[in-house]
Amino acid sequence: MTTSEKIIELSKIAAEINSFKGLDIAKNCTHAVPGEGNVDTKVLFIGEAPGFHEDQSGRPFVGQAGKLLDKNLAAIGLQRSDVFITNVVKFRPPDNRDPFPEEIAACKIWLDRQIAIIEPKIICTLGRFSMAKFIPDVTISRVHGQPRFVDFQGIQYTVFPMYHPAAALRAGVMMKAFEEDFRILQSLIV
Ligand code: URA
Repeated sequence: MTTSEKIIELSKIAAEINSFKGLDIAKNCTHAVPGEGNVDTKVLFIGEAPGFHEDQSGRPFVGQAGKLLDKNLAAIGLQRSDVFITNVVKFRPPDNRDPFPEEIAACKIWLDRQIAIIEPKIICTLGRFSMAKFIPDVTISRVHGQPRFVDFQGIQYTVFPMYHPAAALRAGVMMKAFEEDFRILQSLIV
C-alpha cells in the first residue's frame, strides 16, 4: 500500500471507531482514541486503553504514561512522529479499570486492520493486555525485553513485550526495566 492509501484506510477505521456505539464505554466516552502516528513506521506501539487525558483529547498516551513513553523514545533517538501508537481498546474504561474481554473482542477488528495496514516490523506491546494478544499464557515479568517472532494474520512480526509505562511510573524496578528494554528496542531497529 502507498502512504496515501494507508492514510485513507486508517482514517476509515478511525471514522468507524469514532461513530461506534456498540459498547457502554463507547457510548459514555468523551472521545474515542483510534491511534495516531507515522503510517510507514517500522515500530508500532500498542497500549491497553485510553485514560482520562486520552479520553479528553482523543489522542493516545498524552498523560503521564505518555510523557514517559516520549522520554524513552527520545532517549533512543525517536520522536512520536516516527512511530504509530494505538491501544487494544479504543474507549476509556471508567476509573481506568481493566478492559473486559468483550471490550477487547469488540475492538479487535480495528486493531487487526491497523496492524495489517501499517505492516510494522516490530510490534511493541505495552502491558499485559496487548502482550496477551500475541504471546498468550506468559507473565510479563518473565518475558519483557525479549523479542520473539510471531506469525500474526499470516505475516511475521517481531513482537517486543514491554512493561506498561504506568507500571514503570509506579515502581522503580519496573522503571529501570522499561528503560533497559528501550535500549534493547534500539538495537532491534536497524
Ligand atoms: N494507557 C494506555 O494503555 N493507553 C493510553 O493511550 C494511555 C494510557
